[in-house]
Amino acid sequence: QPAAASAEEPLRQSIDAHAPGGTLLECEDVTKLFGGLRALGGISLSVRRGEILALVGPNGSGKSTLINMISGHFPMTSGSIRLDGQSLETLEPHRVAARGIARTYQIPRLFEHMTVLENVQLCAAFGQDVKALNAADSALHWLDFMGLAEKAHELPASLNLHERKFVEFARALAAKPKLLLLDEVLCGLTPTEVDQAIDLIRRIRAAGTTIVFVEHVMRAVVALADRVAVLDQGRLLALGQPEATMQDPKVIDVYLGAAHAA
Ligand code: ADP
Ligand code: MG
Repeated sequence: QPAAASAEEPLRQSIDAHAPGGTLLECEDVTKLFGGLRALGGISLSVRRGEILALVGPNGSGKSTLINMISGHFPMTSGSIRLDGQSLETLEPHRVAARGIARTYQIPRLFEHMTVLENVQLCAAFGQDVKALNAADSALHWLDFMGLAEKAHELPASLNLHERKFVEFARALAAKPKLLLLDEVLCGLTPTEVDQAIDLIRRIRAAGTTIVFVEHVMRAVVALADRVAVLDQGRLLALGQPEATMQDPKVIDVYLGAAHAA
């Protein structure tokens, strides 16, 4: 642990919101209506280059919807999202991917008729690095990074949930994103698998990738996040350092309320 912590220290120090170009992603007043339902009611937040931002909140608070707005999977109703100062709205998902954003899904989406390796290779093609297009090497590298090299030639049907999530994770990494969006990658994993994933996410960040992750596993949020954003009913309820934010009385209230409702 101490060795890993000190290796990350220079990186943490380099994260400076006030430095020119310190902001990678800016969401401004992002609103999403599904019919009469306001899934997001005007979310404004910025993600700094090199940081890990956790998105937390009760079920239905709008976390996946925000990820879907950033990745272009649904159009916003209003608001704006910029990556490196350039607007992403109106872009198709593959165009957003080409700008350097990769994601995983809450329920992994693998192509069932393709091998694990082909699944990873395919999405490398949507990434910003055209050289990755034909690079089976790169796909294998990321599978190996996720501890799944020996599954490369199997079909997704032979994988368990943890492995499916990690293949999707490898697929996102193969696109060499500037910004990685992870939607509940730890949910349903055993404690050992969670530890493994925490370590992987640290290594990904240390390699320079900015990460926004949606998570219910609080020990992972505290272990990984530089800042945490709490959503409640489509609104940004709190934003700050993980430990302080999760102890904020209004955040505790929301979680207690959700627990009573469940
Ligand atoms: P979370 O990821 O925080 O659990 P979601 O972003 O999935 O929440 O959902 C936020 C709200 O938007 C919920 O009320 C959900 O039912 C609704 N919602 C999400 N996706 C759709 C959709 N495609 N069509 C209609 N309503 C949706
Ligand atoms: Mg969700």
